[in-house]
Amino acid sequence: MNSIDTLFTNAKFADGAINDIAVAHGRIAAVSPAGTQIPAGVPTCDLGGALVVPGFVEGHIHLDTSFYGDAWKPHKPYTNGFNVHERVAFQAQNFAEAAPVEVRARNQLELCIGHGSTQMRSHVTVDGSVGLKTLEKILAVREAHKNIIDIQLVAFPQSGILQSPGTAELLDEAIAMGADLVGGLDPASFDRDVEKHLDVVFGIAEKRGVGVDIHLHDNGTLGVFEIEQIAARTRALGMEGHVVISHAYALGDDATDIAKRVGGVLAESGIAIMTNAPGRRPFPPVALLREAGVTLFGGSDNIRDSWWPYGDGDMLGRANMIGYRSGFNTDDELSIAFDVVTAAGAKALRLEGYGLAVGDKADFVTLNAQHVPEAVVAIPRGRSVYKNGKLVARDGKLFRS
Ligand SMILES: [Zn+2]
Repeated sequence: MNSIDTLFTNAKFADGAINDIAVAHGRIAAVSPAGTQIPAGVPTCDLGGALVVPGFVEGHIHLDTSFYGDAWKPHKPYTNGFNVHERVAFQAQNFAEAAPVEVRARNQLELCIGHGSTQMRSHVTVDGSVGLKTLEKILAVREAHKNIIDIQLVAFPQSGILQSPGTAELLDEAIAMGADLVGGLDPASFDRDVEKHLDVVFGIAEKRGVGVDIHLHDNGTLGVFEIEQIAARTRALGMEGHVVISHAYALGDDATDIAKRVGGVLAESGIAIMTNAPGRRPFPPVALLREAGVTLFGGSDNIRDSWWPYGDGDMLGRANMIGYRSGFNTDDELSIAFDVVTAAGAKALRLEGYGLAVGDKADFVTLNAQHVPEAVVAIPRGRSVYKNGKLVARDGKLFRS
């Protein structure tokens, strides 16, 4: 253990064991029962028996849309139920009066890191109005924060693909510029042509060898039909494990038999589902889908933007929300809610070296809680966040090395 950089002592693991964690070159080099292998001359950091968990996975956020840290933007009610077109127009008005996107993105990013997210997937708008300008700014923000958080970016057609001429080409170019995945948006209700929308999305994915993450808000049989179409494309291209459907509200409609059947299709197609357990909308049945073998993970989605005024970037709070709305009460159920914002997110995002085992990245968070189920209900403050074995935030305040 001579090459270790830091020995973190007295870390309580989820199973209750108190361990020491040796970190070398940003990775976990050894885990041993507390006090058994303390070498001389190695810097130590006593975690004091705090619960230590892997860094949270923020699986779905929009770094370019938040007004967090900017002037408050009052919301206005939807005039005719949830309407994506209407909200996109309202968002454009708000952007005109907002701080520069890179400032807003940094504010939001630092909020998330302060709460313990060390891995993130952000959607970034690419459309006819902003072109690739927003992506350029967010790529720079990612670069500036690369030592404290890993970020995947999805080229997101917020104004549709067919409805916004030139977007197909822009999405392709976005991948060439550094976006990691290609996004999509309600192929039926927004673009009015499921086949053509998916032709573009999966065409770029195949050409560029990247994954897909599609926003799908459509409910009912229409939403189920789209899920099945996405699943068919995924299997046809051998993209199992590389496709995410975000929201998939249709799975939350009351028909359990449909959710079970579609859950089987999703599991077979290796498609993961992202949920943020939003407000009063139906959302996918977490336990049922997990039982069917589906990877279901969490994200904040919009934070204090034109879509809703809520959100604080705390994925432990999100686990609480997902558990609450799912009716989870037992320790096993609360642990599922926690898994949704940690290991399941890591699986969906195909993260390398995630966890607290030897060889994993030393990305972890300390929590003032007895165990994981208590952490999910208590959402304790006073956390310390470590990235690559270095302290990056404490009590929500960031440290930059
Ligand atoms: Zn979203």
